[in-house]
Amino acid sequence: MSAVAGTDALHWLTASEARTLLDKKELSAVELTQAHLARIESLDPSLNCHISTFPDRSLAQARAADERIGRGESAGLTGIPISLKDVLVTTGTQTTAGSQILKGYESPYDATVVQRLHAQDAVFVGKSNTDEFAMGSSTENSSYGVTRNPWNLDRVPGGSSGGPAAAVAAGEAMLSLGSDTGGSIRQPAGFCGIVGLKPTYGRVSRLGLIAFGSSLDQIGPFARSVEDAALILEAIAGHDPRDSTSAPMPSPDICSHLTGDLAGVRIGVAEEYAVDGMEPGVETAVATAVESLKDAGAIIKQVSLPHTRYALPTYYITAPAEASANLARFDGVKYGLSIDGGSLREMYEQTRGQGFGPEVKRRIMLGTYALSSGYYDAYYVKAQKVRTLLKQDFDAAFADVDVIVAPTSPTVAFPIGARLDDPYQMYLADVFTIPANMAGIPGVSVPCGFADGLPVGLQFLGKAFDEATLLSVAHAYERSQPWWRMHPELGNEI
Ligand code: GLN
Repeated sequence: MSAVAGTDALHWLTASEARTLLDKKELSAVELTQAHLARIESLDPSLNCHISTFPDRSLAQARAADERIGRGESAGLTGIPISLKDVLVTTGTQTTAGSQILKGYESPYDATVVQRLHAQDAVFVGKSNTDEFAMGSSTENSSYGVTRNPWNLDRVPGGSSGGPAAAVAAGEAMLSLGSDTGGSIRQPAGFCGIVGLKPTYGRVSRLGLIAFGSSLDQIGPFARSVEDAALILEAIAGHDPRDSTSAPMPSPDICSHLTGDLAGVRIGVAEEYAVDGMEPGVETAVATAVESLKDAGAIIKQVSLPHTRYALPTYYITAPAEASANLARFDGVKYGLSIDGGSLREMYEQTRGQGFGPEVKRRIMLGTYALSSGYYDAYYVKAQKVRTLLKQDFDAAFADVDVIVAPTSPTVAFPIGARLDDPYQMYLADVFTIPANMAGIPGVSVPCGFADGLPVGLQFLGKAFDEATLLSVAHAYERSQPWWRMHPELGNEI
């Protein structure tokens, strides 16, 4: 393992540490932004975390942040450098969703989360890489090239939010936002050794998130600490009347609940999460973490989630079905690429045939099949019934426990190329993350050690809209361990 501990460099500070320094005027937002932009310039040629950067604009935002701080009016994220997964639409720069079909596409509006961060004068350092339309577990499906794992450049960073995860792990951004439909925040956070939070479905507005599976998609943060994840969640959460799936609730107060106390907290371990194909190093790291939770005073209880094995197949009906409908809008008329084919039909065929990559086409075909007449009841409707059972499993378990602990993924980051020819193996990467999306509950991955020199993620799952308890447990665990202070040694520390 090559790791460095410490916070001496600006690019390894947490956002809450930077907040203190910024407000005391011991550090300026311009300096902090320059440090992260320099990191992007030196590292991104090999890591490929970002699809687009716009340094002049980032520095202008940093100057505005410094002025605001000077007036004594700073908010939680004023002056903090943040990267946005390139499925979040932004004005003034392209939003590609990792696809050729949207190359050069500029949105006429900013996503709600972007507006909320902008209102705090946060600094955007770039739009980060993603599997095409967020479909994948490795960023190998991006049409802008794979992102490399900062801990080992021959490994994937996970996906689909591999770019924003690797950016935070490598010190290219202090925080980032991703999206999680079946694990795309938690799995790359685990693979890159950082914190990744999928909030409750409906907690964060999805207006301006390019839709994949609308009943599953949720926006959430990557961070270097649980406290930082809470800080940005407080900034982006809360009702948005322009997203009908956004829950009519105010943004939760989470930071004040991070007490660090685990005494008497009931933590469930699900017997069904002992699956085949678990790497021994991951099993050991997770078992050690559970022991340390117990040592800190938590009550560990066995729980049962009996329908777990149906989660993956149910997801691979539901998500592609919804994707096939959502992606119908990319037809060469309204957005991005348009290839004139002589007739309307030819234009559709040429634009979609050339604009979409192979995994996206596979999902559209799977989804169209599942929704087609004669199969709809057998597949889609049945999947929704199973989904209810999955949710009931969690309801029953949460009658007995406050949170559930599980591995984030069965393996550490796998080698680039290793699973490309085997979609089923790729889909298995999400066996522990998908159930939370099916049930709509929140989940967070925090680093819990290393196996073969690569980070292992520990996942906590919580009750719907109880991110406060979820993050308080995750924070208490994090602070009892050294892992959250470990950073990859990238050879050119600057
Ligand atoms: N890896 C899963 C998929 O390919 C989940 C993706 C996601 O959460 N966006 O569908």
